[in-house]
Amino acid sequence: MADGGWRKTDRLVSNLIIEMILEEVYEKALQLLPLNADEGLALYCTAPVGELMFVANKLRQVHIPGNTVGWMIDRNVNITNICFSQCSFCNFCRKKGSPGAYITSERDYKSKIDELFLLGGDQLLLQGGMNPDLGISFYIELFRNLKKFYPALKLHALGPPEIVYLAKKEKLSYYDVLTHLIEAGLDSLPGAGAEILSDRVRKIVSPAKATSEQWLDVMSTAHILNLPTSATMMFGHIETAAERIEHLIRIRDLQAKKPQGHFGFITFIPWAFQDEGTNLLEKHGVKSSYNGPDYIRMIAISRILLNNIRNIQASILTVGKEIGMLSLHSGANDLGSIMIEENVVSAAGAHNRFNANEMQSIIKDAGFVPGRRNQKYELV
Ligand code: SF4
Repeated sequence: MADGGWRKTDRLVSNLIIEMILEEVYEKALQLLPLNADEGLALYCTAPVGELMFVANKLRQVHIPGNTVGWMIDRNVNITNICFSQCSFCNFCRKKGSPGAYITSERDYKSKIDELFLLGGDQLLLQGGMNPDLGISFYIELFRNLKKFYPALKLHALGPPEIVYLAKKEKLSYYDVLTHLIEAGLDSLPGAGAEILSDRVRKIVSPAKATSEQWLDVMSTAHILNLPTSATMMFGHIETAAERIEHLIRIRDLQAKKPQGHFGFITFIPWAFQDEGTNLLEKHGVKSSYNGPDYIRMIAISRILLNNIRNIQASILTVGKEIGMLSLHSGANDLGSIMIEENVVSAAGAHNRFNANEMQSIIKDAGFVPGRRNQKYELV
């Protein structure tokens, strides 16, 4: 009996120790104290998902008390799909001169914006590739014209990689690039291009794009300028669990440095890598490791680790209705936008689409009250 008995006792003792450690970490998180990387990793890798959901839910009520879940109407328009970066997870970009390469015309913007207003939205999510032919004057003119024709329009546009690219191309500081763009009509900066803020990962999946440090520097500058920003994470490819946790901690630590009273990161949105047709899958055999339970775990750990970001958004476009609903019981308080047009993640296999009525039904079916909001997460 001896050996088997000892082994059983050892297991019980070590389980007890793990439970005691987890209890301590939960307590710390519930007091809104910042967890370190080891604590975050211990929770992420060993805590039962039900416990993570419970703690994350409590923290959701601390940050956003009540039963309202945010959603909005906006439209994604891609400025261009020509991009020199050729990230291996992107199935959207084209090389200059190749079939299907485009720069959106003024006429197209007008018809898309007219449709957006008709459907009750007022925000464009303007993204696209880093087209080597387009400098800052192109974006300034574009933003000015859009605002001239549609003064009520909100522009949630570009992202840190484009700001890094424009700064390099024009020999300007991030501060100057952002200032010019804000003057031209930029209302908020999406957290695009964060992927995983680890240069080991970035060198493999997006080597021509901004480094982690550059991404964070642009966001820090945006926070100084009090430009509202969001933070994202694209996970489920080649990153490790420790790199996911490192990503969250870098976002949280930058948020802690934002000037008092400034917007900083308004929200955090983790979304799952979509692999269909991407080079990462086709050439390197990297399949998306996304699965529902892991997404729920990621939403919960995001809420627990990001003690200074109020809103956690579940990416219903990439995870679908059921996991989106469950996310709302795991720390998320927002389901994002119905996104009238989306061409980037859908090009890699994300085919979830919801209209305004469906979005509200999903929120109600999950047991919450839909609250339509704007980009600053103010109810409208
Ligand atoms: S993800 Fe963005 S930066 Fe990367 S290749 Fe696609 S469009 Fe270009």
